[in-house]
Amino acid sequence: MTATKRIIMLGAPGVGKGTQAKNLQARFGWAHISTGDMLRDAVRGGTELGRKAAQFMEKGELVPDTLIIEMVGERLGRPDCVSGFILDGFPRTVVQAEKLNELLSRMSLSIDAVISVDVSKEEIVSRLSQRLVCEKQSHVLEGDPARKPGDACPTCGSPLIRRKDDEPATIRRRLEVYDEQTRSLIKYYEGRKLLKSVDGLGTPDAIFQKILTALEIEPARS
Ligand code: AMP
Repeated sequence: MTATKRIIMLGAPGVGKGTQAKNLQARFGWAHISTGDMLRDAVRGGTELGRKAAQFMEKGELVPDTLIIEMVGERLGRPDCVSGFILDGFPRTVVQAEKLNELLSRMSLSIDAVISVDVSKEEIVSRLSQRLVCEKQSHVLEGDPARKPGDACPTCGSPLIRRKDDEPATIRRRLEVYDEQTRSLIKYYEGRKLLKSVDGLGTPDAIFQKILTALEIEPARS
């Protein structure tokens, strides 16, 4: 049995943190909380939050902290978070990190580890400009230059599209935003002795094993 863990995944857009968060969820049953996915659902559903968030997301800017914190606060109160959770894409600013501390201390909880997945900027731009997602289920396809927008998703058959914010100009803006705001989080969590850096180059399996080691969990036996 692996203990309950509450983890933050940090890393620029496109480093593969979503894939790794899904791997952790599948293996340990911890809730995967992706603020990007939640916001895209809200935009698709045409909710008030979605309408407010869309204008920032399309430009690659951050959605205002108040909207995000309310959304995450509600999500952390759901029953699937009791066995642990992985925050993916949140916090993105020191203000959000401080608000998260407040939310968790009200619930008498704390973060066990912050995993930073590190990949060079050139590698990120190349990965993101090749990334496709399917329209219906958001299955993600990375690193397959043979597939183009409009092809069928190999998992569910719905058409593949490029996310609006994966267009090259928006990617550059998202990386700038990451540099400006999110890098300070690395220092913030380093200061709290929670940060564990993992090299994000390699196969998804190899990176997963590095994350398990960083979390001091025994690697899977194959
Ligand atoms: P992601 O899929 O994590 O790259 O998020 C896609 C977009 O959603 C970002 O470019 C932001 O516009 C918005 N977003 C996601 N998470 C946050 C957050 N924690 N704070 C502010 N904006 C966010």
